[in-house]
Amino acid sequence: MAKRDFYEVLGVGKDADESTVKKAYRKIAMQFHPDRNPDNKEAEEKFKEAAEAYEVLSDADKKARYDRFGHAGLSGNGGFSGGGMSMDDIFQQFGDIFGDSPFESFFGSRGGQQRSSGQRGSNLRIRVGLTLEEIANGVTKKIKVKKRVNCDQCSGTGAKDTQSVKTCSTCGGSGYVRQVRSTFLGQMQTTTVCPTCSGAGKQITDPCTKCKGDGRMMGAETIEIEIPGGVEDGMQLSMRGRGNAGLKGGPAGDLLINIEEKQHPHLKRDGKNLIYDLYMNFADAALGTSVEVPTISGKVKIKIPAGTQGGKIFRLKQKGLPSVQSYGKGDQLIHVNIWTPKKMSDKEKKLMETIRDSENFKPQPGKSDKGFFERMKDYFKS
Ligand SMILES: [Zn+2]
Ligand SMILES: [Zn+2]
Repeated sequence: MAKRDFYEVLGVGKDADESTVKKAYRKIAMQFHPDRNPDNKEAEEKFKEAAEAYEVLSDADKKARYDRFGHAGLSGNGGFSGGGMSMDDIFQQFGDIFGDSPFESFFGSRGGQQRSSGQRGSNLRIRVGLTLEEIANGVTKKIKVKKRVNCDQCSGTGAKDTQSVKTCSTCGGSGYVRQVRSTFLGQMQTTTVCPTCSGAGKQITDPCTKCKGDGRMMGAETIEIEIPGGVEDGMQLSMRGRGNAGLKGGPAGDLLINIEEKQHPHLKRDGKNLIYDLYMNFADAALGTSVEVPTISGKVKIKIPAGTQGGKIFRLKQKGLPSVQSYGKGDQLIHVNIWTPKKMSDKEKKLMETIRDSENFKPQPGKSDKGFFERMKDYFKS
């Protein structure tokens, strides 16, 4: 099923500011909230769709990527997260949207139940340098990442052993406490996270001796990162839950992967197209020849017809790069530069002098010999 445009989902314009986006999302979330639409699959889908749109449009970084690359910028074909939020994620997100208002009363209880026991781990950021060849085909990188992992002695719980965990006496193990409040809408029952156990429902009487109750330790993990073909320098991919481990068994943060493009010895990139500067001498250009040029998939022989002008661009169809967001490949453009000798022997000079005044050597640009500006126009049209 095609994904709907996020701006359309929330019914806001591309230039909508943060508070407009928030307001639009609140309205939709209230309308389609599962508590108000029990067993209604369609409402649930709408609810999730809006949450996902809000998640992206409320985050300057994600919004910029979405504006530039569309849905593909957020979830490539390499198994990256970014789309498809779980209900758990959505209710966690509610904390900052509804926390400061009476809306909390409608949703509080769910937020409490869904909260996980410990604090979420922080995101981890790494850089991955890629060659143009790797970008052309997509690549799986195995990278060893140093990060906080669950403590191996207590498995992340932070407790010395199973006997040193007891049910929280404040909340009776539910992780949340109910309060009745008077608001302008009448008596409202709110549910908040238990202040004693921070929502865990459990209390640790004896902390783990290795991690002192934190539940984490420094470690490393070798992570397989699937990078789709066509990524660009500066793009960011994310893998949910592969960042630092959370406190006391809380959910892990995300792994954020920043793409860096390594320079190719011969080819330059221009979006999906690759550009190669070919230098040839005047004699080859005048007489015609065949030359080998490097491409991203090995060398290719091309024919240079007699009478080729400097500045001519030859195009090798489909020899460029794929795109992350659309189908099809770019081309390789071969840009002809005529090499003029900087020093010559007396014999060579004599030869040149005999032909320099010949009628055929007088420049006579015709219709098919396009100047720089026309060639640039053609290039941007293609
Ligand atoms: Zn431990
Ligand atoms: Zn408690």
